[in-house]
Amino acid sequence: MRYISTRGGVDPISFSQAVMMGLATDGGLLLPETIPAVDAATLSRWANLSYPQLAVEVMSPFMAGDISKEDLAELVRRSCLYFTHEEITPTVKVGDHYILELFHGPTLAFKDVALQLLGNLFEYLLARSGGRLNILGATSGDTGSAAIYGVRGKERINIFILHPHQRVSPVQERQMTSVLDDNVHNIAVRGSFDDGQRIVKELFNQLDFKERYSLGAVNSINWARILAQVVYYFYAWGRVSGGKVDQQVVFSVPTGNFGDIFAGYVAMRMGLPVSRLILATNRNDILHRFMQQGVYATGEVHPTLSPSMDIQVSSNFERYLYYLLGENPGRVKGLMDQLSSEGRFAVREEERQQAIQLFTSCAVNELETVEQIRHTWKQHHYLLDPHSAVGVSAAKNVPGAICLATAHPAKFADAVEKAIGQPPAMPVSLADILSLPTRCAVLDAETSQVKEHMIRILG
Ligand SMILES: *Cc1c(COP(=O)(O)O)cnc(C)c1O
Repeated sequence: MRYISTRGGVDPISFSQAVMMGLATDGGLLLPETIPAVDAATLSRWANLSYPQLAVEVMSPFMAGDISKEDLAELVRRSCLYFTHEEITPTVKVGDHYILELFHGPTLAFKDVALQLLGNLFEYLLARSGGRLNILGATSGDTGSAAIYGVRGKERINIFILHPHQRVSPVQERQMTSVLDDNVHNIAVRGSFDDGQRIVKELFNQLDFKERYSLGAVNSINWARILAQVVYYFYAWGRVSGGKVDQQVVFSVPTGNFGDIFAGYVAMRMGLPVSRLILATNRNDILHRFMQQGVYATGEVHPTLSPSMDIQVSSNFERYLYYLLGENPGRVKGLMDQLSSEGRFAVREEERQQAIQLFTSCAVNELETVEQIRHTWKQHHYLLDPHSAVGVSAAKNVPGAICLATAHPAKFADAVEKAIGQPPAMPVSLADILSLPTRCAVLDAETSQVKEHMIRILG
């Protein structure tokens, strides 16, 4: 299997090259040249597999000729070790809906599913190539810990994560700074999240520094992250349908950067019987506006109760756009250039019509989010986190929908307490986190300070 860029400027590369490249060198996103098709008999057989077995079947065609099935099985086995549920991503029936619980990983959020695999993949590929990788990223609180847990203790990898000093919640801070492995380097920047992002961007732009220290990113545009997420769509369908291939399902997906829901789109293109994908956003509704008007226009970021979906643009949307525009990289590039120069672009009405045949979008406001948490708790004694509540609210008139639960409610205790009048019970992994020892450097919001700190550590 070979990979190409949505903007057409990359000669076809292998799966491992795509994983190590992350963002395509022409500024686009990497996609497989073709999407493997799964026939009905196979689909039905897959419904009986365990999560790790299924993960190997779903992902191996995307790595054909590059990573063997045996090696992949070992990578998957290691990526499941730190999940606390034996099914990894179980489905539970709650009222009229199914809830696909994606939060049983080490940091209690769905990003663990992809980042546990990505960390193991990086380690495997670096051992093969003899290279090293120094991951650098900025976080506003949540994704940093999932990235840290993905690569802690891994050979040939260091990770540097910047967070705004004293501006993340105490639990979020401890989830990052209590990881004491030698290869994990937390940096609290005296400034805002934007300062952290600016510093990271400036360091990536210093090409000699970037090359010399093999800097890399783990953001949500890495193809391996999408691929890891395709698996649980198949898994949930198997649990709900029992393998009956004529059973179509609807998924409702709390959406920010469009990575998770794009994985559902890939599953559907492979042959999974998906009749509809409900695209649930919070007040940051660029995707909902696109589906309604055919215009993709950046707005301001509004802080909400579901902060991991507070985005200005959806970085993975370009992947879907590539298919919507008939796999025409020239047009994708044209529209993305227009987005960066004018802050917006439009597609043709027939293209918008095609998009809304599959995607039903819905923007859920703060009040509806809180009311959904309260309602689901009162009616079914099941506690949703605010992100998952956005997805359930968007599916409230769709009985049988499979709603993705993307975070454990204990991670967003304030919003939950607001909704039900009491704080959520803390799972063991969070209960004692505030008393654990920590390690973290505190630096001024200066690019040179962060750079010198990294050089001191890396030599
Ligand atoms: C990242 C995240 C999302 C959004 O997923 P995308 O792939 O960015 O659309 C939803 N919920 C939680 C808890 C997240 O961390």
